[in-house]
Amino acid sequence: MQAITVLGATGSIGVSTLDVIARHPDKYSVFALTAHRQIEKLAGQCLQFKPTYAVVADDGAAVALQALLSAQGSATEVLFGREALCAVSSAEGVDTVMAAIVGAAGLEPTMAAVRAGKKILLANKEALVMAGGLFMQAVAASGSVLLPIDSEHNAIFQCLPSDFKNTDKGGVKKLLLSASGGPFRGRTLEQMRAVTPDQACAHPNWSMGRKISVDSATLMNKGLELIEACWLFNVAASQVEVVVHPQSIIHSLVQYIDGSVLAQLGNPDMRTPIAHALAWPSRIESGVADLDLFSIAQLNFEKPDLTSFPCLAVASAAAREGRDAAAILNGANEIAVQAFLDERIGFTQIAEVVSHTLNSLALTEPDSLEAVQESDRRGRAVSSDYITRVQR
Ligand code: NDP
Repeated sequence: MQAITVLGATGSIGVSTLDVIARHPDKYSVFALTAHRQIEKLAGQCLQFKPTYAVVADDGAAVALQALLSAQGSATEVLFGREALCAVSSAEGVDTVMAAIVGAAGLEPTMAAVRAGKKILLANKEALVMAGGLFMQAVAASGSVLLPIDSEHNAIFQCLPSDFKNTDKGGVKKLLLSASGGPFRGRTLEQMRAVTPDQACAHPNWSMGRKISVDSATLMNKGLELIEACWLFNVAASQVEVVVHPQSIIHSLVQYIDGSVLAQLGNPDMRTPIAHALAWPSRIESGVADLDLFSIAQLNFEKPDLTSFPCLAVASAAAREGRDAAAILNGANEIAVQAFLDERIGFTQIAEVVSHTLNSLALTEPDSLEAVQESDRRGRAVSSDYITRVQR
């Protein structure tokens, strides 16, 4: 029996995780569920999964959740705040932590779980993008098992040889990172200038939270994933190539020196990588329908269009720059995406905000979590200021 904490239980990944867990009550129990503001949804999850703890953002949310749970006779203890998030991620009774809070807010609790040596199912790519070096050092020091949930990285993980960590990388030449191209594939910058948040969030293949949906539409998500891949698999940015594959059936590929290319395929449903990571190295049912290759019939591939989607180029440059470039990029992007969702800036201004921020700040080498958070803060301050000047 694995005891699991689900950070970000009310989000898209959190809900898919609980769907898989519910299919295997003999294998998994829920230790803690966390959310930020969706109290009623979290209350429903607590009544179904009976966690020992539930964590919310603040005192007010905790009182509201406690009232909902007490009315139903629930024994779940309600906590709130960042310390509580870290506590339920690192507690002795936890085996596995699903890190599915969105954005930089996930960094601290995920790091707490890593330092406590938990098995980490990493959806919160922003944590690794911001603090990659420190994060991977902490994984090595604690002996934590780190399994990628991002479908692309999970696919690569499945296609890598078992001796990949050896010096010759097991004959691996290159990682080919799949990208759907998002809802605006094929459009010019001019054609994207007036797109709305709802249009940007209407992904053709995946159903996801709004922040990652916008990131997918700008291709910043692919840039963040490129940085994530470099840290997870200890490769240089030059060894990762983005391949646009509009059907989202091949989730990524590994190219070997003998000419072989291994790929992982499946329907675009996050329950597959979640089930894979939960059960690894075994396999369990995920509830995902069998892949029907005959109805798919065709798989297409294109090079990414860096002119229309400059965010990918900006993130690739940050990956090559190193130091705290990725932390600044991530902070600026979170601010810009929120400003776009609030209709304060246009879609194509997201890339402008991030580029401006990176060009305005000197890079430093972050040697602690506090230093990473300071880089994040600097990125947010410069981008917020720029947005105030250019907003509608
Ligand atoms: P959602 O927006 O759907 O969910 C985010 C979750 O985090 C919610 O539970 C939310 O609580 C909680 N949350 C939000 N802000 C805070 C905060 N400040 N402190 C604590 N908790 C907070 O996001 P997704 O599930 O789509 O994505 C989660 C992570 O997984 C992201 O890092 C994303 O990049 C990654 N990912 C997602 C994929 C997907 O298919 N969705 C695929 C691959 C990676 P509440 O609901 O109460 O607001």
